[in-house]
Order: sequence, then C-alpha cells, then structure tokens
Amino acid sequence: MARSLILKLPLLLSVGAALWFGLSSAAGLVALGVAALFLGLLAWQVFHVNGGLWVPTLWRSARPVDAVALTFDDGPDPEFTLRVLEILRAKQVPATFFVIGARARLRPDIVAQIDAAGHLVGNHTDSHGLEFHFQLWPAIRRELDACNRAIGAAIGKEPVLFRSPQGFKNPALGDVVRAMRLSAIGWQVRGFDSVETDADKIVRRIASRVRPGGIVQMHDGAQGFGSPSRQATIDALPRIIDAIRGAGLAFVPLDTLLGIEAYRPPAGRPPGKNEA
Ligand SMILES: [Zn+2]
Repeated sequence: MARSLILKLPLLLSVGAALWFGLSSAAGLVALGVAALFLGLLAWQVFHVNGGLWVPTLWRSARPVDAVALTFDDGPDPEFTLRVLEILRAKQVPATFFVIGARARLRPDIVAQIDAAGHLVGNHTDSHGLEFHFQLWPAIRRELDACNRAIGAAIGKEPVLFRSPQGFKNPALGDVVRAMRLSAIGWQVRGFDSVETDADKIVRRIASRVRPGGIVQMHDGAQGFGSPSRQATIDALPRIIDAIRGAGLAFVPLDTLLGIEAYRPPAGRPPGKNEA
C-alpha cells in the first residue's frame, strides 16, 4: 500500500497547495508545476513496460549471456498456439506462454500440451480486458487468482511468472503482484505482431533490436484491437529463430535466463531443494 502513495501523495499535496495559494500566484504556479511533474512520473511508470517503481519488472538477464528467451501472449488459441508449438518443436526452441485464464478454461488441453512440450506457462490475467488497468486491489486479485487457478487446473502447477496486459502497471497491481509473490515480466523487444500483418516487418524489427539476454515478446493469440489472425507471427517465427541463432544467440527458458522459479514449489517442500 505504501508504494501506491509514493507518487500520489506528492501529487495530491501539490494540487492542494496550488489551489491553496491560488493559481494566479507564483507559489500556486510552482505547486502546479510540481503537480504536473508527479503526474508525468505517474503516467510514465504506468505505461513504461519495464518500469520498476510499482513492482520490479524483469525484462532481460541481469548477467551477460549469449542467449534470449521467447515469450508468447494472449493464448491459448485453438489454431495458432498449436502452430507455434509445431514450429518450436521443429526448431527445438523453448518458450514461455502467458495465457489468458478464460481461454485456458476453454482449452485446458492446449495449455497441457504447452507444458508437456517442455515450455513454461505464465499468468496474463483472467479476462485481459482494458478495464483491468482501472481496477483496484480486490478485482485485480480476483483476475490474477482466477488465471492461476485455470493454469493449475490444466497443468497441476501454480505459476509465478506474470505479465500484465500491454505491460501496463499501476500501484494497485504492484501491491497484488507482491502479495501473491509473482514475478512481473516485461520484454526487451516486441514484434508488434498483435497489429502488424506483414511478417517481413516483424522479422526485421525483432532481428535488428534483440540484444543478448533479452526477452522477446510475440503473440500466439489475438486480443483487443489486434488482428484476429496470427498468420504473420507464424510466418515470421522460423525466420526470427534463424536470425537470432545466426547472430550467435541461443534460446533458453525464461526461468533459466532470469535465474528465477517459474512455478511455486509444492507445499511441504522447500524451494530449490531437488536432491534425490
Ligand atoms: Zn496480452
């Protein structure tokens, strides 16, 4: 709760001061300027995907590595997730799928397939609605809990990896992510493939911007304003994989890249103890 007040309190105080002094006075204008500054900071931290003020957000490896991690958002999709899985299998590339809970309930079999193929599954909220960004603690908690339950029902594991829709975060979301002990995941480069229909542009964009240790974001499902077809992603994916490998970078699972756990250890067993 305290973090939610970091920017809001100075914002409210400076707005109050501006009104108190009167907007025509010099002191009032200075207070208004301070209010604008904090409002700008607030907005920046909400829309900055990898901003860490509300909650630490992981978007690349902390140590230098010649590897990257692929991630896909907005599935499971009955057509395109299966085609992504087929490409990843043929190319022997691990990936992480941030799934929408409501879709995971419709097709738990696809979520199970993702897991069985050795990929990771993360939480991408239950409904992925735009209103998510305007919700407060209880509603956000319900969204994240429901998605984790849907994933748990499909694969029998409780995910720790979480990615916010569009990467936006607000102070309340930060509080919930910390309370649930989730790891917030951003990205180093994205393909804009939820709106881009030209595979060449997706390939060029990712291949030219990806950096060692980076997290790559793409989409196996369609949501919101995007194109309902992920055909461009399907066309681009093998070429992106070849281009990244051609640049001397390997593909590793997201938890390996970041050195974190992807799932909550089963109750009764301490984390990190895998001795036989
Ligand atoms: Zn999404």
